Amino acid sequence: MLDVNIPIIYIQDYDFVRTDELIKDILGENTKIFEWNPANKYIDFRTKEPYGMGEGKTMADLLTQLTTPSTNYTTPRFLVLRDIQDYLDETKSTYDPAVKTALQLIALRKLYDRDFELTIIMISSVLKIPPEIEKYVSFLGIDFPNEEEIKKIIDEHIEVNGYKNFQEKDRDGLLPNLRGLTLFEIDRMLDIAMSRNGSLTAEDTSRILEHKKQMVKKSGVLELVDTEESIDNIGGLDALKEYLQRKEKIIKNLEKAKKKNVTVPKGVFIVGMPGCGKSLCAKATATLFQVPLLKMDMGSLMGKYVGQSEENIRKAIRIAEAAAPCVLWIDEIEKMFSGIGGHNDILTRMFGYFLSWLQEKKTSVYVVATANSADNLPPELKRKGRFDEIFCVNLPNNKEREEIFKTHLERRNQKHIQISKKLIDATVGFNGADIESVVNEALEQCFIEPKPALDTDTLVKVAENTISITDSCKAQIVNMNKIFTQCKFKDASDPKGHKQKN
Ligand code: ATP
Repeated sequence: MLDVNIPIIYIQDYDFVRTDELIKDILGENTKIFEWNPANKYIDFRTKEPYGMGEGKTMADLLTQLTTPSTNYTTPRFLVLRDIQDYLDETKSTYDPAVKTALQLIALRKLYDRDFELTIIMISSVLKIPPEIEKYVSFLGIDFPNEEEIKKIIDEHIEVNGYKNFQEKDRDGLLPNLRGLTLFEIDRMLDIAMSRNGSLTAEDTSRILEHKKQMVKKSGVLELVDTEESIDNIGGLDALKEYLQRKEKIIKNLEKAKKKNVTVPKGVFIVGMPGCGKSLCAKATATLFQVPLLKMDMGSLMGKYVGQSEENIRKAIRIAEAAAPCVLWIDEIEKMFSGIGGHNDILTRMFGYFLSWLQEKKTSVYVVATANSADNLPPELKRKGRFDEIFCVNLPNNKEREEIFKTHLERRNQKHIQISKKLIDATVGFNGADIESVVNEALEQCFIEPKPALDTDTLVKVAENTISITDSCKAQIVNMNKIFTQCKFKDASDPKGHKQKN
């Protein structure tokens, strides 16, 4: 960017320590760098001390002064404007149109006047640029530290703390948990881990994982889900389970597979009835692939402010990419595509960004997107090259209900209970969540009555008194079935065909 005479460089990052280090590194010791920020006003970028001629000046005054024709900079200088987005935002009380105009003038002089070697570097944790100056701006995204850089930070901590017994395997245990965090966050976590006993062992890994969970949560766009759900906990959905087990073989041998020209798996889209195991499948996928599960909740991604939702999705994707290999679970993805094609520009742009990321994705972020509704599924989503496959999950058939009962009874140490035909007949139209609640309710009854042990008859009685999803959402189910038949998605239950069996 410096070589091609870009007038304004925009760095979006919330780790100010890291961006400052980066700027100092790139520009070297002798380049003049000033800074203006709302708290300190005009200061020297390196020392953070007030700076001579502009001390206490408002930004508009400072920038206007820089645009006077008599101001010349024949040697390169840099002005860092930190967190100034509110001065450019017409909806904010701090908005000052002079700032926008001055930035335009500075950018133009930088482009056309050889004696004006002033580059603006804007740093902010949010991405907000008015259209008038957008054409002069180049964006610089800072990647999270890669494996080599993380190794270097770990080694620095080992050395500084004089820790002698550190082993290679300890580092291998720590490394995956430090991916997807900023340099500053990694530094802090290692400090905390080492301050306890001066060592850095495998024991610290779980503590670090706990901190990481909090930090990912603080990002406000993703959540690190701790899960032990395994594929064996899913009753039925054989086609989907078989499919995921095939992908497991590739994900676990990715480098080998790539050498054989196998494409990196992108992800799977699971759409279907509520309470039928979609979330369970997302969790079990992460356990199966032995990678962390990052959950992106579309509801919390939708920001209050203009541009915030798009920024959130970029941020979420950046964190997931840095944390790869991982499973990125996008819950309620229908919220993103429900506004496509209408007047909701933000949703349309978010969706476009997401689709092109999915299409071009080279990293091992495996996406599991789940949706309750298949209404208005945009055709872009179904095009090849996006998700590898779309599965629909319907209400469980007889055999599946039996399997779901089995998994839930087994998990509650009730493996011995026979699942009678009467029980299967009594639960037609139940989803997995209904079945789980029948098992829980029956166990609760046995405890309260009290009854010596759970039996099939109690399960049948409870089932007969349960209001199932089919009782409560009839119209929704009929509608969903219609959509599934029209769309011809793969049936998650049937490994051989497309048609629903129920
Ligand atoms: P929603 O769309 O409402 O989020 P969902 O399809 O994601 O629902 P889950 O959250 O996966 O449903 O399931 C709800 C509960 O029902 C879980 O606790 C899970 O244990 C149980 N359940 C659902 N389907 C199955 C299944 N196929 N096998 C075993 N348990 C199931």
